[in-house]
Amino acid sequence: MHTAADGPDPGAPLTASFSLSIAVEGVPLAPLTYTSPDALHRGDWVVVPLGRAERLGLVVDAAAQPRSDAKPIIAASPMAPLIEADLALLEFAARYTHHSVGQAIAAAVSPVLREPERHRERRTPKGRQQPAWVIAAAEADAEAVSSTDSTPDAEGDRLSSALPAPTADQQRALQEIRHHWPQPVHLWGITGSGKTRVYQALLAEILAQNPQAQVLVLVPEIGLTPQLARRLAEAFPYEPMAVLHSGLPEVARARATLAAMQGRARIVLGTRLATLTPMPHLAAIVMDEEHDASYKQQEGLKYHARDLALWRARQRGVPLLMGSATPSLEAWALIDEGRLARVDLHQRATGQPLPEIRLIDMRSAPAQQGVATAALAQLDATLAAGQQALVFLNRRGWAPVLGCEACGWFDGCGQCSVGRVLHRGASGQWRCACHHCGAESAPPRRCPDCGATDLQPMGRGLQQVETDLAARWPHIRSIRLDRDAMKSSKALAQALDDIRDGRVQLVFATQMVAKGHDFPGLQTVLVLNADTQLANPEFRAPEQLFSLLLQVAGRAGRHGGSAIAPTVTIQTRQPEHPIFQTLLQATPKAHERLLRSMLDERRMAGLPPHRHIAAVRISHANEARAQQMADDLCAILRATIESRGMAGLQVLQPMRRHPERVAGKLRLQILLESDRRAPLHEALAWLGRAELWAEWTEGRRMEISMEVDPLTLT
Ligand code: ADP
Ligand code: ZN
Ligand code: ZN
Repeated sequence: MHTAADGPDPGAPLTASFSLSIAVEGVPLAPLTYTSPDALHRGDWVVVPLGRAERLGLVVDAAAQPRSDAKPIIAASPMAPLIEADLALLEFAARYTHHSVGQAIAAAVSPVLREPERHRERRTPKGRQQPAWVIAAAEADAEAVSSTDSTPDAEGDRLSSALPAPTADQQRALQEIRHHWPQPVHLWGITGSGKTRVYQALLAEILAQNPQAQVLVLVPEIGLTPQLARRLAEAFPYEPMAVLHSGLPEVARARATLAAMQGRARIVLGTRLATLTPMPHLAAIVMDEEHDASYKQQEGLKYHARDLALWRARQRGVPLLMGSATPSLEAWALIDEGRLARVDLHQRATGQPLPEIRLIDMRSAPAQQGVATAALAQLDATLAAGQQALVFLNRRGWAPVLGCEACGWFDGCGQCSVGRVLHRGASGQWRCACHHCGAESAPPRRCPDCGATDLQPMGRGLQQVETDLAARWPHIRSIRLDRDAMKSSKALAQALDDIRDGRVQLVFATQMVAKGHDFPGLQTVLVLNADTQLANPEFRAPEQLFSLLLQVAGRAGRHGGSAIAPTVTIQTRQPEHPIFQTLLQATPKAHERLLRSMLDERRMAGLPPHRHIAAVRISHANEARAQQMADDLCAILRATIESRGMAGLQVLQPMRRHPERVAGKLRLQILLESDRRAPLHEALAWLGRAELWAEWTEGRRMEISMEVDPLTLT
């Protein structure tokens, strides 16, 4: 930071010039110094030279003193300046994730908007003057918005009257939430309790209070945006809405970002990346499906949208409403600490009962091709009654791996220490694909160890289940929803429409459908092989399995009107497990008891959310080098902690991650543990000092990353 006390630089030219500290988009360094002939301010956007290229930059500090050694900026951008609160958000996100503000800009501003030439006026080849794209796009949008035909009938009555009146239970929840606001609130509403209706009512109040107010609505997955966009458009037909996620065409995403940044979009609906989108008139945040792990960004700026949303709401003094049928243990801990108010919604809005849950003990039940005879009968009855059924298996592909029964060999990825998944292409060709590095090839013809030619698929993936079961009901229209079948967000939106409108009867799906969808005709859910997750050693696995099963179960029988009673059938070889037993009890009280016992287990094991963890991760192709680097970093961290007297911070011995090799690189990590986050941040900030970083990684093809609150510990 340069202040007036720095004094003028004696070598400076006498021309008036202002020295600016600028965060350069994408650059992993502290802000750089540039000069400008005009006075600019913190929050202004500029185009700056960087090497031989140009980049978008953000003024984070403006000092009046000239500095002769700095380069001048290229141009000031016409993009509306960031307000202080939004700039502070980017700075917080950068600090929290141990990245630069420049990298936070890259996460907050969509790619097209970061292109420097979009911020400058241009001449066409014919010599015509063209305005900067940010202005042109805004003008085009303004025309589009003002050309919509209707205006609300009465001022202040902007919420559509077509919505059903809130139920008594919803009314009570609304009262309680209003009572708590602006303290953040968690709405624990069982599946089908109509949380969206509650959001609509509260957002209507916020939007009516202030004609400029903007609201931010977050969903964990792109696939949930069409449904919620439709419901918000139904509720607020006159409010400009911007939808933001990474699956949009670039120009559409840039326009949506711009509409949010300029305050033109009153409703901003988006995935986790929208948590960082600047919104000058932000007045409330809604975070639906709060428990969902997709809210955690796993690459680059590794933030959790929940943490950012909490910080952003507090800093702006605006209400934050989270909602979930299965609150995360993090949310429970916040509730216990009094930092999050809790409001319950324990009845289905449509008056329908929760579906009946049945367990099938696969150790003894008769089955065909991995599906119990009783479950097949249930599917038969559902389909015969013209209702929809969902078959859930959280495993993509045809089979988890190809193996040799003769000698025990199995097909692994040459670059990663994992098996390759067997897939069947659209035209029937087989391929083995690594889900970690993406490499794939045709399956081997014979066992490389013993030469046997009858290699067998081991286990069952969703593709195989689909093929087997669809053949049973050849006249029934079925669809498979997983990442292989739904490559684009458009295909997914279409598939979800087909299910909702009843154009398909039998749905095969991975966890893609477990989240928040409202399918009116769905009565029967069959969960195949939930047990694999029970064997997962990750500390979050039990919590995630429980919430996944509750969410999937919650898709059944939401609307009634069927002769078939809604049922959820779960196949397991461990029916006595507390997770399944709690699902059988099917009361919020029982659910809360289980979640609380999980929370106690975490406390006793010294795991989040009670204790905090940070990871320093190292990967390198050379095993010895990776190990050496990990040992060095561990020693440095321990020495620093000692010399700085940082109490209550443990640095664990470097360990191999799982899988230990990905894309040819050995992966190691050092875990740091503490009862508080602050010392973890302090240690990582020290480790991340740019000069150390460059020295360590340069020329060694060593990748080092740091993360506070990692989702997994392996
Ligand atoms: P949740 O997200 O809590 O699982 P939804 O918001 O999807 O539940 O609502 C479940 C269903 O109940 C939806 O079809 C919705 O239209 C309906 N619903 C919600 N509130 C009401 C209400 N007050 N009256 C009638 N139907 C409602
Ligand atoms: Zn073999
Ligand atoms: Zn691989």
